[in-house]
Amino acid sequence: MKKHNFFAGPAILPAEVLSEAAQAVQSFGDMGLSLVEISHRSKEFVAVMEEAQQLTKELLHLPDDFAVLFLQGGASLQFAMSAYNLMRSDGSGAYLETGSWAKKAVKEANIIGKGHVVASSADTNFNYIPKDFTLPDDADYFHITTNNTIYGTEIRDLQPMVDAAKAKGIPLVADMSSDIFSGPIPASDFGIIYAGAQKNLGPAGATLVIVRKDILGKTDRAIPTMLNYQTHIDKDSMFNTPPVFAVYTSLLTMRWIKKHGGLQAMQARNEKKADLLYNEIDRNSLFEGTAAKEDRSLMNATFVMPKAELEPAFLQVCTEAGLVGVKGHRSVGGFRASIYNAMELDSVQLLVDVMQDFEKKNG
Ligand SMILES: *Cc1c(COP(=O)(O)O)cnc(C)c1O
Repeated sequence: MKKHNFFAGPAILPAEVLSEAAQAVQSFGDMGLSLVEISHRSKEFVAVMEEAQQLTKELLHLPDDFAVLFLQGGASLQFAMSAYNLMRSDGSGAYLETGSWAKKAVKEANIIGKGHVVASSADTNFNYIPKDFTLPDDADYFHITTNNTIYGTEIRDLQPMVDAAKAKGIPLVADMSSDIFSGPIPASDFGIIYAGAQKNLGPAGATLVIVRKDILGKTDRAIPTMLNYQTHIDKDSMFNTPPVFAVYTSLLTMRWIKKHGGLQAMQARNEKKADLLYNEIDRNSLFEGTAAKEDRSLMNATFVMPKAELEPAFLQVCTEAGLVGVKGHRSVGGFRASIYNAMELDSVQLLVDVMQDFEKKNG
């Protein structure tokens, strides 16, 4: 039976990306060797890294004052690394606390110096994006999480965030792990964008980091070599062995995005899937969305059943239909359907059909 992958992460990748990646593990190009057994300094892999960096810039319309890095340690290491590189010893980082990942970023900032939560939606289990906040005068940067994977909320309009950071003259830092490349963004208005690859880009193991070079070098801290963005910028993301398989597979995904029309086309595709699913969640008497409507994520749709005793039965019919990964995260409960770039409309339609059928039998 065909499986439809609704997992939140590691998550679905385009089928053609997976088969090309599998092929490269067997034999890469005309080298007669596997991608994972060649030098990262070979001209073949250097070309992969360069194309991955160049395509990132092309898709996001990034000018040359930005560096593109593929690092290890996941988005979780970026919580600390971004703070380390930007926070002065008498400064702070300003954070919009919109979920568990944002909270973890604040925690790291507080280990390094001072993480200042300017607004939080913790009071309602993070089911909305706070819109009212003031950035403190001592803030060295403003950190946001653009898509809250667990709670199904997304900052659908980034402009107010851009404007707030600009008004203070500080860089905007964004964790975009779960919505990177899902649609056009004003990328050149950010100071740092980072994303663990395994949600919308590639396999786990690589973290895409985009840095505007002129924001670095302003902190008085001594930064450990591997945690210093400048180290990796100076060596074109090859200071030490990069995660070659994850970088190559991410490159294949970016080629796939470009071939399918770029970020504008991804946005249209994602809106279509999200509309289909949210319309059914709102229409169906057995289901209820958990996120505030204006903040609903295009990537992760979270929903529950008012009659919670029916939830195990619904999960069972999903399993029988080949719909996998729809069980909700424990901190929200219910269901979460992750509908990243690679998810086909047909798979979302099948989920909707199963929801309708379930309502007929149990409504
Ligand atoms: C998954 C996720 C993370 C954690 O990523 P790792 O690469 O596992 O460290 C951080 N932020 C967001 C928004 C995520 O979805």
